[in-house]
This record gives sequence, structure tokens and C-alpha cells, in this order.
Amino acid sequence: MADYKNFTVETDADGIALVTWNMPDRSMNVFTEEVMQELDQIIDRVAGEAGIKGAVFTSGKDSFSGGADLTMLQKMLGQFHATKAKDHEKATRALFDNAGRMSWLWRKLETCGKPWVSAINGTCMGGAFELSLACHGRVAVEDDSVKLALPEVKVGIFPGAGGTQRVPRLANTQEALQMLTSGQNLSPKKAKAMGLIHEVAPRRKLIDAAKKMIKDGLKPVQPWDEKGFKLPGGPVYSAAGANLWPAAIAILRRETYGNYPAATAILKCVYEGLLVPFETGLRIEQRYFTEIMQSKEAAAMIRSLFVSMQELNKGARRPKDVPAKKLKKVGVLGAGFMGAGIAYVTAKAGIQVVLVDRDQEAADRGKAHSANLMDGLIKKGRATAAEKEKLLSLITATPDYSALEGADLVIEAVFEDSAVKKEVTEKAEAVLKPSSIFASNTSTIPITALAKNSKRPKNFIGIHFFSPVDKMMLVEIIMGKKTGEKALALAMDYVRAIKKTPIVVNDTRGFYVNRCVLRYMQEAYSMLIEGVPAPMIENAAKMAGMPVGPLALTDETAIDLAQKIMKQTIRDLGEKAVDPRHMALIDTMVDKHGRHGRKNGKGFYEYPAKPAKKFLWPGLKDLYRQQDPDRIDVEELKARFLYVIALEAARVMEEGIVTDPREADVGSILAFGFAPYTGGVLSLIDGVGAAEFVKRAERLQKKYGKQFKPPRLLLEMAEKGETFYTRFAPAGSGEMKKAA
Ligand code: NAD
Repeated sequence: MADYKNFTVETDADGIALVTWNMPDRSMNVFTEEVMQELDQIIDRVAGEAGIKGAVFTSGKDSFSGGADLTMLQKMLGQFHATKAKDHEKATRALFDNAGRMSWLWRKLETCGKPWVSAINGTCMGGAFELSLACHGRVAVEDDSVKLALPEVKVGIFPGAGGTQRVPRLANTQEALQMLTSGQNLSPKKAKAMGLIHEVAPRRKLIDAAKKMIKDGLKPVQPWDEKGFKLPGGPVYSAAGANLWPAAIAILRRETYGNYPAATAILKCVYEGLLVPFETGLRIEQRYFTEIMQSKEAAAMIRSLFVSMQELNKGARRPKDVPAKKLKKVGVLGAGFMGAGIAYVTAKAGIQVVLVDRDQEAADRGKAHSANLMDGLIKKGRATAAEKEKLLSLITATPDYSALEGADLVIEAVFEDSAVKKEVTEKAEAVLKPSSIFASNTSTIPITALAKNSKRPKNFIGIHFFSPVDKMMLVEIIMGKKTGEKALALAMDYVRAIKKTPIVVNDTRGFYVNRCVLRYMQEAYSMLIEGVPAPMIENAAKMAGMPVGPLALTDETAIDLAQKIMKQTIRDLGEKAVDPRHMALIDTMVDKHGRHGRKNGKGFYEYPAKPAKKFLWPGLKDLYRQQDPDRIDVEELKARFLYVIALEAARVMEEGIVTDPREADVGSILAFGFAPYTGGVLSLIDGVGAAEFVKRAERLQKKYGKQFKPPRLLLEMAEKGETFYTRFAPAGSGEMKKAA
């Protein structure tokens, strides 16, 4: 069957064509130009061949499809921006036509006169789910691990191939809006309950079930093309609609603060689309899609959250000439809060773990953490008892260092104390083979200093996790002065195996992430001291796009820990290294009021017994004279949060701590949720433009202090009209260095 490169078409004795999508050169099916062309031909063939009664569409891979290849979209946008100066109308027209290409092809499929059934055998995302929705029948494999979703909104765009029109014509409007604006994953069961698919079937019966629908006389007409079609959620202008829409708009505003134009566009598409016939609805969707694709949010989010993230996950920063290694055995020293989490994610990747603590009891406690996490998954139906047993069988909890023998990598997560770290490094190295790599999870001690405890500093590296380890997707890999390429390569192979995203950071106090996070928290301390009411501080941060307010974040990490770090910084760097007003605030919170954060139920927030929600500690307003909230510029508060973090990131780039803008951007979003619509810390600056950013930062510096002083690097970039992505063009990222 060499008719197509990416598909096979086999017609059975009943005249049902089985169209199987199986791209030869990819591990996952995605829509490319070639795939679209071949599909177009196949639709014509099914429609035109008299011997074909109908078609079943499925995938030959484990998953169904990941949707569109977003790099294709990026190229399309690149073309638009390159040609728009010459003839804006023509460029926009071309973009509009391209934007509707998939949508009208799916429309052609559903109106071709023959029935189509999508047999969804695995995870089905974006355009592929939209293709399925255009099929007259949909059967998915009965397996909770299979995900069905329209996740486009997560990268700043929206389902533009009929998703916003078909979903609310199949499901009730409220559930449709929830699904479209959140990009949430649906299990086949949930999708069926919503009305998005017709059947679920066991894997081995999937194709038969799909064919049976056709044999049973499935009509090649969609409900919305039938006379008398009624919307499942009722018309927009109805009592139900009057209840739903004002609330829907308010909820979206509460969730996004208007920062995500794509989410707003989804609401518009659904609202306007449900007022008109289906094809007009498709055209409305196509118009909004064309508009949203041109937004700077879409460009920034696609770049950071899709393209860059994928590149980093594939090991863009891994030394190329060191062969990849599959890790078999990893040692974890310290079975405390972090060590227990590291053991879990490592075993989850199928790697054997030796979890060492001071005594058997402590080591066992660490292993019990894995059992608890697996129990949680089992309860939610996301894991089986057998998977739990298998995972636990991979973890050996012991106080005995000799069990580390043969480990490829050891990660230490013992107390943050140089002497303890020295002791465990020496004990481990005594049994390790000379080629194995030793990593520290320290948050504050320079790797270069810790490497002095090692007999082989070339093999010594930092692997810095964030808590909770099982949830946080970012890992900082810290290079000490003497760390070698092999250590870096192995650390990368490890992070890839546990399916997290690595960024490579050179050694410095606070590394990268914590330096930025500290700035965020410190700016909130300054605001408190200025008398900005605490609720305004927290709300302004969220309005700026941060997921957690800075005071809530300080509570999570503990105020007494902040106090410890500040005191250590003063000891190491002198009095001037810490703002004395901040020190006084934190001392007051901890020493005078005993407020240590969430862990003792008393921090910047009060933590009443559940189900009551936390609320800001009323005593905060007595600490400083409060300003009149009506006289405070909220926009300025928002800018202060974003700018103070972005400026720290720019300093980190200037110092050569992070060298690749992709890592700074992706790291900022994954580690502390930096306003994702900006594309990350450096994309924020690039988006504003260095010159304008410097101007605004200098204005803030005059009013609020030296934390807003733009580094020399930014002044230079402003003068030369550079962006981070041109000046620090990452190799192989498709960005071009500007000609000198
Ligand atoms: P923790 O106190 O919960 O755990 C430390 C564990 O080390 C304890 O179980 C302790 O018994 C064990 N230990 C102490 N001395 C030992 C020895 N000689 N041999 C074997 N085990 C020994 O601390 P944690 O929060 O898990 O932090 C561990 C490390 O991770 C620290 O370096 C910390 O800076 C770093 N870190 C912590 C976080 C965080 O959020 N807590 C985040 C990133 C990194």
C-alpha cells in the first residue's frame, strides 16, 4: 500500500475503508503539510469510490495524535510577519486562508456523503480531536490513561478547526466552555458522559466497534446539519443562556484577569457561533483564529511553552559528543522531604534506587512516601496495586552505604550543612566506581565549594529539584567550576528519564530560580512596608499573571526559612546585602508574633481548620500605616512584580549564570509560574522592547529603589536595538543572530 506516505487505506469485504495514520519518521502522529494533502486525497477517494461505503479513521501508533505541529504554525506566522509590511491586506488574507485550511478540510469530510467513524486508540489532542469531532461516529478505547483534549489555549491559541463550534453543539454549553477555556484532559469515559464521543470499547474490539457503527447504518450527516437541530445547552437567548453567559464571562475574568486573549476569543466564538448556522460559526472561528495567531501572547507562548520546552526536553543543551546513557541504578542520600521525593520520581522512571539515611527507620520513612503517593494515584484510578508493588520493589531503603555500589549516579539531599554533606560525599565515593557521578541537591551552598569534598570534582554536579518533587517539572542542573561534560551529559540523561525539563545554570548564590523568586517576595515586603494593603499586594500579583501571591508563597516556603537565609546572607556578604527594613519585618513576624508560615498555621495568612479557607492575617495592617487603596496605582504594582523579576533574570544573563534565553524563559514559567502569557522573563523584556523596558525600569528605580536598576547588558541592548533571542541566539533554535 504505497499510495500514501503517512496512511494506509484497506477496504474490507463490507466496503469499509480502514484509514490508518502512521507517520514513518515520527514517534507520534502530527499534522504537517504533507499529512493534510494526503488526507485531502483520502477524503476524495472515500467519497468518490463506489465500493467504499464508509471509513474508519485510526492511528497505527500507541497514541492517536498530538495534534498540529506547532512549528508549522510558527513558520506560517513568520511568513505573515515577513510579508505584512509590503502588503498587509494580502498577508492577512493568506494567514486567514491558512488558518482555515484544517477547518474546511474537516468540514469537507463531514459533508462528503459517506459516514466516517474515528476509532480513538490512544491520546488524541487538538486538531486530531477536532478531526474526530467532524467524524459522524466516535469510539474511544476504554482506558483511563488515554487523554482527549483541546489544549490549544495553553499555548496562547484556541481550537481553530471547528472545536469551538462542534463541542458546544454536542455538549452542554457550560461544560463545553470549561473544557475549551481550560484545555483540560478528558478520559474517554468523561468525554462520553459529556456527549463528545458515542462509545467506549476494549482495545481489541475498537475497530470492530467502529465498523459496526457504519454497518448499523450510521448516517453521514451531523446533527447540526439536520433540520430541527437543537443545541444541547439551549439557545443563547433563552433562560438558560441568560443564566450562563454573564457568569461565564465573570468566571473567565476571575481566572485570567484578561491576560489571555485566546481564552476570551473562545467565549466570543461560542457565543457568536451558537447564534448562527454552523458554517457561519466556522467562519467566525476562522476570523478570531486569524486575529489571535497575530497576538504577541500566542507568539510568546508557542515559542516558550511548546517549541523551546520541546527542545530543552530533547536535550538541546546536552553535550553532543558524549554518548547517551540509560541509567540503571541511582543512589539517593537523605530520605527526608526532598530525598523521598527524588527516590519516588526515579523509581517511577523504572530506575533502581538505593535510598540511604542515618538509620533504617529514617530510610523506611522516606520509602513510605512513595507508597503514599502511589496510594493516592490508585484512589484516583491513575495507577494499579501492581504498579505500586513494582515501584516499591525498585527502592531499597537502607542505612548501609555499601548498597550504593555500582550506582551510575548518586544524588545527595541531606541536611543543608556543609559538614554533613562532606561526610556523606566521602562515604559514598568510597564505594562508588570512579566513573559514577555525584550530585548535590543543595539550595544555597555553591557547588564549587561542595566539589572540594570530592576526589573527582569533574564528576561533581548540582541537580536542584523543587518541591514538591513529584509535581514540579523543572530541574536546575548546576555546573561547578570543575564539572565536566560527562557529568553534565549524565545529569541530562537522568532528568530526561524522569521526564522533567532541565536547565543548565552556572554556579552562583541562589542559582537562577531562587534569585528571581527572592526578588518577587522582597518586592512584596517593600509594598507592605510602604503601607500597601496586603490584599492589594496579593491581588496585583495575580492580576499580573502570577499563580501564587508573594505573601502566600513566602508562607509556603516558611517565613523562618526566609529569616535564616537573610541572616546567612548578612554573615556571608555583610549588612548591606539585606534591606534592613525587610529584616525588621521578617524578625517581627517570626520573633515577635511567632508566625512561621503555613507549617505552624500562622504566617502572612491565617490557616483555619479545613474546609475553611486561609485568609490574610488581619494583624498585618497594624504593622505599617496603611495607604488609601484608592490612591494606589494597581498597574504600577503589577509592573513592579514583573519587572523586578525580569531585571534579576537579565542580571543572571549578564553574569553568564544562564546562557540560553530559552532556559531563562521556560525555567521562569515552570519553576514559579511567571506570567505565562508573556512567554517568560526574557520574552517579557523582548516583547516590551529593551529601550522601552529600560525607560520604565528607570522610572521605577527613581521611585522605589535600586532593585529596578537596569543592568549594563540591558542598556547596551537598548542602544543597539537587540533582543535576548537575537543577542543570545540559541544554537539550533531557529532564531537568527542579527547581522552586525
Ligand atoms: P530534610 O531535613 O527533610 O531531610 C534531610 C534528610 O537527610 C533527613 O532525613 C536526615 O535524616 C538525612 N540525613 C542527615 N544526615 C545524614 C547522613 N549523614 N547520612 C544520611 N542521611 C542523613 O531536608 P530537605 O528539605 O529534604 O532538604 C535536603 C536538601 O535539599 C538540602 O540540601 C536542601 O537545601 C535541599 N533542598 C530543599 C528544598 C526544600 O524545599 N525543602 C528544595 C530544594 C533543595
